[in-house]
Amino acid sequence: MLRLLPTVKIAMTPKIAKRLENFKTTIFTQMSSLALKHGAINLGQGFPNFDGPAGLRQGGGHPAIREGKNQYARATASLLNAAIAARFQKDTGLTIDPETEVTVTSGCTEAIAATMLGLVNLGDEIIVFAPFYDSYQATLSMAGARVRSITLRPPDFAVPIAELRAAFSEKTRAILLNTPHNPTGKMLTMAELQEIAALCVEYDSLAFCDEVYDKLAFEAEHISLASLPGMFERTVTMNSLGKTFSLTGWKIGWAIAPATLTWGVRQAHAFLTFATSTPMQHAAAAALSTPDGYYEELRRDYAVKKEILVEGLRAAGFVVYPSSGTYFVVADHTPFGFDSDVAFCEYLIQEVGVVAIPTSVFYLDPEEGKSMVRFTFCKDEGTLREAEFLRDDLFG
Ligand code: GLN
Repeated sequence: MLRLLPTVKIAMTPKIAKRLENFKTTIFTQMSSLALKHGAINLGQGFPNFDGPAGLRQGGGHPAIREGKNQYARATASLLNAAIAARFQKDTGLTIDPETEVTVTSGCTEAIAATMLGLVNLGDEIIVFAPFYDSYQATLSMAGARVRSITLRPPDFAVPIAELRAAFSEKTRAILLNTPHNPTGKMLTMAELQEIAALCVEYDSLAFCDEVYDKLAFEAEHISLASLPGMFERTVTMNSLGKTFSLTGWKIGWAIAPATLTWGVRQAHAFLTFATSTPMQHAAAAALSTPDGYYEELRRDYAVKKEILVEGLRAAGFVVYPSSGTYFVVADHTPFGFDSDVAFCEYLIQEVGVVAIPTSVFYLDPEEGKSMVRFTFCKDEGTLREAEFLRDDLFG
């Protein structure tokens, strides 16, 4: 019998700080290990099974290593800080100071951790939208914050404005947003962002925005909350290279915020990792200077992949919810008669040979995600077409 959610096998009682004792091995690590073990097609963890652009991968080791760019990067005045500021300006129209308003981190995951640890006090309330990415809850726990979760519900995962208003109070230190949203693909609309902005101003709260899928916006225009009037001064905008350039292992991310907030993020970053890999920063700066045509091509390629997966899932009998951005879609598995997303994922791996992500792990109350599973389409077309074969296996 396959057991889906064990933690690591340790003969002795594991020793772990209280702030992390309730967290399991991440669902992505678990599911990818199971994919390997069962030789299953991995439509679970969001990493491309194809490589990033050849031009960004030339030679053995990036030229920066050979050119001696091998000592600690400076937190300010780096080539990458400038490239990030230039891209932000192009995307949002906001002119920022690369010296004082950009922090380069080891992936967006570190930007998230540094933001929480550098700007949130013990007991502060942080509003998050469920389903939420797993590292949010873990880093909020490390910071000692209290999580106020608001559930986005299918089919459209719209922000329930009245609930949001009711959740804001003087205790709200920040709201944590992710648009385009993992796992649902929901993109916040201008009206929703305006509402959020008004509440942040009214309660003098901050906004932490994870925008790592901004270049994977298919059905709508991506809007950064920071670009709304009065919001830059209270917003940390986080992003990374991994999804945009299909190079998730490079682990280069960043946080953009006014100097006052950057100070907190930078102090946390300084004591977490001190600096981010110097040669990779040079490689990342080169990637960010890629002409805009690349982003269009990326979107075109992914639109084809998305259609293959969504059509395959529909043909197999899933109810697929609309996804406007990211490389994920969420589907309702209940037509197949399983009790929970975990039970369904177990069946899918063992009997069909496909890995998906159960969504119940993305809620404070797992019951809320029980009927849905997440599939990714960041895989080559041959792999995605296998989803079509699900039909016979699921009904067979
Ligand atoms: N962001 C990726 C996803 O949602 C996973 C990254 C990870 O495994 N931590 O699939």
